[in-house]
Amino acid sequence: MPTPMPDSACPRCRTALVTHLSEVPWCPACLWNIDAFEPGDKKGPLRRLYRRLAFRAAFGTFRALQTGDDPARGATAVALGLVSLVIGALLLAMLALGVRLSTADFPAPTLLPGVPLILFALWLRPRFGKTDPHATVLTRPVSPALFALIDRVAAALDTRAPHRVEFVEDAVSAGYVAGIGRRRVLRIGATGWLMYTPQERVAILAWCLASLRDGHAADAMASQLALRTFGRVSDMFLAPPNPRWNHWCRGNTRMALIERLVAVLMLPVSALCWGAELAVWRLAVPGFQRDHYRDDRAASAVAGGEAMRTLLDKHLLTAELHTVASAMARRGEFAAPGLIAAAGEVMDRRAGDLPALRQATIRRDTALSDGAPALGFRIALLGDLAPAGAAVVSSRAESEAVDAELAPHIKRLRGKVASDWYN
Ligand SMILES: [Zn+2]
Repeated sequence: MPTPMPDSACPRCRTALVTHLSEVPWCPACLWNIDAFEPGDKKGPLRRLYRRLAFRAAFGTFRALQTGDDPARGATAVALGLVSLVIGALLLAMLALGVRLSTADFPAPTLLPGVPLILFALWLRPRFGKTDPHATVLTRPVSPALFALIDRVAAALDTRAPHRVEFVEDAVSAGYVAGIGRRRVLRIGATGWLMYTPQERVAILAWCLASLRDGHAADAMASQLALRTFGRVSDMFLAPPNPRWNHWCRGNTRMALIERLVAVLMLPVSALCWGAELAVWRLAVPGFQRDHYRDDRAASAVAGGEAMRTLLDKHLLTAELHTVASAMARRGEFAAPGLIAAAGEVMDRRAGDLPALRQATIRRDTALSDGAPALGFRIALLGDLAPAGAAVVSSRAESEAVDAELAPHIKRLRGKVASDWYN
């Protein structure tokens, strides 16, 4: 929990600084020094460069949106598509060369470079993602009230219902696309769901359906090769110790020496890939983050700004709420009215800490990744929106009808939540 530091003053605005544990302090008023932080095990000039780029991308996007500047995301998508195209052509060429080397005058010594080339090209192929085979899949005949609510939210967003609805023990809900057919999947996390008020449920459904409606640039198949390839190659060749190689080399001095030699020879490849990965992600991240902000705005138009803000504040305290939920699950009290009340108590108790906790997420969760921008940024931008009513209003009775349908599944998930500590 961030705490104020007595006798300190921000060099920019003279406000007393705050700090979290023994981290470098920051200014709660103007956010001075919020980016001056290195997580424990990730230090060094390259990590610093990475974090500086991540903060520049995140603050740049946030401030642009604050001033109403929301450029179309087309240019980034085209650039990522072109990079993917070049990588795809290289992989195909590699595959063709590998096949040719392996089949010419079979069996010949050219098999030695041929087969690894084929394997390497196949390993780097684009992945389409899969639906979760362990998830409980909800259907219209079994859960009519839930689907009626989903349909109302979808209609307000002018979109279709998802192809598949999963119900899992997670704390958070999400929308994702899977398979070559790009099936749209709504994944409802039971632990969070049972702690949301009826209107917060509308907000989370609206957020997930909006993300499925407009798609996230980070999920676009056209950009997969550009985003993933450099990182995978650089991980593979990264300087020692690589745990996978260590496993083979254990106790074998000659192998260990060969491993070191390969690593040194591969260092330029690895460094080049790391640099290319950084450049691609720095280019792409502002667009990815704008997608999340856009879905926040869409969800607040459907569920109302207030429900969206309280929903994100609950996300801020996910770990704490999950601990409460699993304690209640262990007592056999894993059901909505009790869990909503317990979540409400936690939120009331922590109300005074929320502003500092929001800021702490900016420090902790700012990265060059395909994930959401820090909750601190998202909640701040929601606060800037003009107050708006809800397009879809859900009643307590409707929520209870949904939970009554889900009761057998909730009962089954209770054991998992009871034994699962949040991590
Ligand atoms: Zn300040």
